[in-house]
Amino acid sequence: MLYQSFLIKYAEIGTKGKNRYLFEDALMKQIRHALKTVDGSFAVTKEIGRIYVKAEGDYDYEDVIEALKTVFGIAWICPMFQTGEKEFESVKKELLEYVRQVYPSRDLTFKVDSRRADKNYPVYSEQMNRDLGEAVLKAYPEMKVDVHQPQVMLHVEVRNVVNIYSQMIPGPGGMPVGTNGKAMLLLSGGIDSPVAGYMIAKRGVKIEAVYFHAPPYTSERAKQKVVDLAKLVARYAGPIRLHVVNFTDIQLYIYEQCPHEELTIIMRRYMMRIAQAIAEESECLALITGESIGQVASQTVQSLAATNDVCTMPVFRPVIGFDKQEIVDISEKINTYETSIQPYEDCCTIFVAKHPVTKPNIRTIRYSEEKLKENIDQMTKTAIETREVMMCW
Ligand code: ATP
Ligand code: MG
Repeated sequence: MLYQSFLIKYAEIGTKGKNRYLFEDALMKQIRHALKTVDGSFAVTKEIGRIYVKAEGDYDYEDVIEALKTVFGIAWICPMFQTGEKEFESVKKELLEYVRQVYPSRDLTFKVDSRRADKNYPVYSEQMNRDLGEAVLKAYPEMKVDVHQPQVMLHVEVRNVVNIYSQMIPGPGGMPVGTNGKAMLLLSGGIDSPVAGYMIAKRGVKIEAVYFHAPPYTSERAKQKVVDLAKLVARYAGPIRLHVVNFTDIQLYIYEQCPHEELTIIMRRYMMRIAQAIAEESECLALITGESIGQVASQTVQSLAATNDVCTMPVFRPVIGFDKQEIVDISEKINTYETSIQPYEDCCTIFVAKHPVTKPNIRTIRYSEEKLKENIDQMTKTAIETREVMMCW
């Protein structure tokens, strides 16, 4: 095994002042969680400004990198040689060993970049760069120094331990999940909402999800597809509590009582109301949807305003300004696309009108909803109470 340790660099969480340790601890927790999917045993530790992952015994390198790439908050993953021997001659030896193993064909240009976080260290960084550079040249005469555009930047960090690395694999960025409150994702079986959930989780927000199904109009298989999507998003967002709400009676009631061209909007308003009630119960502070302006009749600006009219919580719509292809690109990157395009019916498409309103008037919609007043509160209450709750991860 070439590497036993990884240096984890984070970007934004480094700027959080006194709360920094909370961010670091959340990041360590998420790293440990992600590594549970990988064979092997790993120690995750921290030192000011740095997090280390150390493999205790055998492991699969690719699996570890894949797992770390799902952890929000990681800016860079650097496979490294780490030594507790800080004496300069030992550092030199370790660096030469690093080059010997990592770059077996040594026809390369390089530069040494030394940092002393340990300011008591007797050798200054400049001096280290020169001495270490010379040692590399002497040991491996095929290598050449290039201070401007080296092919290999040999980083040597003297801290409580010494870290030697040159490769930097990009992480997903963002902030560790659990550092920014919790929000409720309206998760359908489509392409957009899983992407929306991913994007908000990336900012450190923990996620729960709600799915509205309409049996027997929508099948068990359509529901399973949503569970599968929740699991895929959970690879990044951590375990997701999914609330499955039976929406059939409410949908039929709206269908019977309200003008058909307003059906979708009214239905969407009830979805938002119910999602909000469940969100409040679950201590979520916001809702998340996959809406994007103009994508369908229910997402014109007028329709979005009519839907939003019933929301008192903030509604996050992270893909609001994205073109479909931009959303598809992200869904492919996070591996939800193939699942999203499976052809199962969606509760919004079952009762859809031939000519839905595209410019709903909020007052007209409110007036139409009056026709539901006899039973809708009880039906909403029942839908919330009889929901099915499951953990997806
Ligand atoms: P998606 O690809 O996310 O399904 P869409 O293009 O199909 O989006 P709509 O069906 O209008 O668009 O839905 C808009 C948003 O409303 C979705 O992104 C999702 O957040 C929410 N939503 C729609 N249907 C459901 C449902 N059955 N359960 C939960 N949320 C839903
Ligand atoms: Mg949809």
